[in-house]
Amino acid sequence: MTQQFIVPPKKGLGLKVHKGQIIKVVDVEGQQVADFTAYHAKDFYEHLDQGATIDANQSINVKVGDHIYSNLYKPMLTLIEDTVGKHDLLLPACRPDMNRLLYGKHKDELQDTCYDNMSGALEQFGVPRPHMHYPFAIFMNTVLDEKGNLSVETPLSDAGDYVRLRAEMDLVVAFSSCPIEKGKCNGESVTALRVEIS
Ligand SMILES: [Zn+2]
Repeated sequence: MTQQFIVPPKKGLGLKVHKGQIIKVVDVEGQQVADFTAYHAKDFYEHLDQGATIDANQSINVKVGDHIYSNLYKPMLTLIEDTVGKHDLLLPACRPDMNRLLYGKHKDELQDTCYDNMSGALEQFGVPRPHMHYPFAIFMNTVLDEKGNLSVETPLSDAGDYVRLRAEMDLVVAFSSCPIEKGKCNGESVTALRVEIS
């Protein structure tokens, strides 16, 4: 049986996932980043960790067959299928303070953010709001050049592209349809995501 969920544009979604279940994240219209994080279902000290994943895989890319690791260096998920092949493990979730610095937004025009979307989606499971989320940003096209410069380019995902992740432990997970409309991050328009659990 497959359960389907929609993450509306600019919004978040939180779910409980059991060990062995498959999480499919679909970019419905294309060029939309899906911030994703995960916590151990019973011990919220243990969570998805960008740095540990880079360290354990010896790569800034997660390839099919690779694990996504926790801060305790345990496999939390395995990437089992990927129709895009380009995601981000380097940048933190967008948050109001980032909008202020990078886009000059004032308090009264601050919008939804991945930090708030994921924190809010995790609240119902009792996960405390972290200082920051460092997600696996699915479909995010961050380009690192040989000098170490980073640029966020248009996602390579087309409508219907997806990744499939297998849960390697019982998890609480959160997704955010990244709300940034300026720049290339989400192809200059924010659209929905579909999540399927089987
Ligand atoms: Zn974001």
